[in-house]
Amino acid sequence: MSTTPLLKVENLKKYFPVKKGMFGKTVGYVKAVDDVSFFVNEGETLGIVGESGCGKSTTGRVLMRLLEPTDGEIEFDGKNLASLSQEEMRKTRRDIQMVFQDPYASLNPRHTIGKILEEPLIVHGISDPQERKKKVREFLEIVGLNEYHAKRYPHQFSGGQRQRIGIARALMTNPKLIIADEPVSALDVSIQAQVLNLMQDLQKEFNLTYIFIAHDLGVVRHISDRVAVMYLGKMVEVADSEQLYEKPLHPYTQALLSAVPVPDPDFQKEQIIIEGDIPNPADPPTGCTFHTRCPFKMDICTKVTPQLTEQTTGHSVACHLHVGQVDNDIKQLEGSL
Ligand code: SF4
Repeated sequence: MSTTPLLKVENLKKYFPVKKGMFGKTVGYVKAVDDVSFFVNEGETLGIVGESGCGKSTTGRVLMRLLEPTDGEIEFDGKNLASLSQEEMRKTRRDIQMVFQDPYASLNPRHTIGKILEEPLIVHGISDPQERKKKVREFLEIVGLNEYHAKRYPHQFSGGQRQRIGIARALMTNPKLIIADEPVSALDVSIQAQVLNLMQDLQKEFNLTYIFIAHDLGVVRHISDRVAVMYLGKMVEVADSEQLYEKPLHPYTQALLSAVPVPDPDFQKEQIIIEGDIPNPADPPTGCTFHTRCPFKMDICTKVTPQLTEQTTGHSVACHLHVGQVDNDIKQLEGSL
């Protein structure tokens, strides 16, 4: 794995306007992604984790420019994606592909698998039908299917096989980065492991870089080199996978981890229950947005937004509980008075 970032994201924001009344007047914004910065090195896997509605899938879609960013920089392979024209972005998409949660919904039911897999090649200008068919056969085998499957339709496959087809489709253009949005959440646990193993093998074979989005820290652990935890549109903790699982610093990460089942019944952890629901993203709490559910809430938490601050090399957290963080945040509070 290299230490050169393939993707660098700075202060990324995606706000959706909230409209009301007959004239559709904008009365506020849902800050789905709110000032998020991170990087992914070539050949590594960054897991992005959080509850539904935390902004992780929106982040993935903004990176692909399936949704336009409100603000921020997205540098991919030396290019600033946010400033590319639609045509330039279309060409760049051959290097960034997505794998979706529900392979059935993302595969056209009226097309054969062969046609579905040929489509990205046509879009990206491979005009020779023989060359396309050869590639389809090759990639069906790479993902563990057979060449005769090219003549079948999506409904003739199991969920796990359909996800293999989704992965084959993403690979057809030889991408550098794959954004996988909950790729195994809809699958049985036994099939999940097979698909995760396949993704890991493909990563080695093709030197792929992954962003792996999931709500389940247990799944992400298996595949990620580093993990970023999101809550209400912000990154609240980023660390190497091992550090995050051994020594989570943010109370939200601790609660998510305590909910991951442990296979050995003698080593069961005490589960930390987070009270209440995720707040309305159109009207997020002041200060630390987690304060309405945090068992360690202090006075400062309702007033000052904690900044993502590095605690040890590569391990950053946005929480007033951590050394240096409170001092920084008090200075920020004093500066704003
Ligand atoms: Fe809890 Fe305060 Fe830390 Fe937020 S900043 S996670 S409310 S202790």
